[in-house]
Amino acid sequence: MKYCLHCDWHASATDEPSARARSRAAIDHHVETGHAVDSSDGVIPPQLPDVPAEIFVDDLVPSSD
Ligand SMILES: [Zn+2]
Repeated sequence: MKYCLHCDWHASATDEPSARARSRAAIDHHVETGHAVDSSDGVIPPQLPDVPAEIFVDDLVPSSD
């Protein structure tokens, strides 16, 4: 997948099946924002923990019962 080093923009195979379209989208994002887009096929981006937000909410909000 391709992902931005400066914001949470990304283009994965699930979002866009066409590698050509992902490359095009990455170029468009760079042109529009000036951000650097990195690509790493098969590697999870280091800045995105693969944990649902609900887990954090459950940990932070005390149970009412
Ligand atoms: Zn960006």
